[in-house]
Amino acid sequence: MGTGAGSAGTELRGREVAAAIRAETAERVAAGPRPVLAVVVATADEATLWYVRSIAKAAAGVGIACDVVDLGPGARPEEIRATLERLGGDPGVHGLMLQTPLPEGASAQELAAAVDPAKDVDGANPLSLGRLTAGLPAFAPATAAAVMALLDHHGVELRGARAVVVGRSTVVGKPLAHLLLDRHCTVTVCHSRTRDLASVTSTAEVLVAAVGRAGLIGAEHVAPGAIVIDVGTNPTPDGGLTGDVDFDAVIGRAGALTPVPGGVGPVTTAILLRHTAMAAGPEGRDVR
Ligand code: NAP
Repeated sequence: MGTGAGSAGTELRGREVAAAIRAETAERVAAGPRPVLAVVVATADEATLWYVRSIAKAAAGVGIACDVVDLGPGARPEEIRATLERLGGDPGVHGLMLQTPLPEGASAQELAAAVDPAKDVDGANPLSLGRLTAGLPAFAPATAAAVMALLDHHGVELRGARAVVVGRSTVVGKPLAHLLLDRHCTVTVCHSRTRDLASVTSTAEVLVAAVGRAGLIGAEHVAPGAIVIDVGTNPTPDGGLTGDVDFDAVIGRAGALTPVPGGVGPVTTAILLRHTAMAAGPEGRDVR
């Protein structure tokens, strides 16, 4: 798929991309010892616990063992840190992630620094982002890597493309900007202080929204034929999810657009598994 010239209205579904990544991961896993992913949880939030169970189920499907270490919603930061350090030093654990939200008083950013970068399959340790931007082997945050996997799976030509990322968080926007830059896009990053957002986003051949505001991106923000990736997940009153992009307004104008749900989300989980398989193999050793 070229950039800026797709036929209007293609839905870039994530499920087939996720299935392809899982199949490739299962093949890799079958060739070696069983990788283990440890997920540290310290919340009673039902949606989060459901998400962690869905990771464990997907892991089982590709032959990865998922060890959910549930410290409960009352866990103290020192306890979470000690658990991450223990799992980091355990040679039987290959991938390690700290699931948010955390109990009050526990900083995800500070605690993520305790995740061994060689096992940091969700790219949460600031060292991982530093290594990524320096061009050293590192695991990118799974969501940022998922956006790249979606673009690649659908054959979007990135070299020389004008890419605009809306959102500059360390978990999505910033790492994604670097991944796009590495693939020779000309990248602009927008945020809450960007003046006249539409005048910037409407120059994009590849537009990624990673904000967390339902419907922020309307037709006026999108160039005709642009490839639009919607990372946003915003709860709806009926208990569902909606993206940052006004799907109905944009689908007829964009060359292609990811749905929410069913776009970036499923690919993110598949990437966590791919990273775990990599962490158990030679790529994991490269990160040291
Ligand atoms: P975040 O840390 O809250 O960052 C949001 C970013 O959006 C910030 O950089 C903020 O700018 C910017 N922003 C806020 N309002 C804006 C506006 N009106 N115009 C332009 N930019 C604006 O959020 P995040 O963790 O990156 O997550 C972003 C979204 O992705 C959320 O909906 C989250 O649920 C979703 N998400 C999805 C997945 C998945 O797998 N599908 C994974 C992770 C996150 P400032 O920096 O100036 O404040």
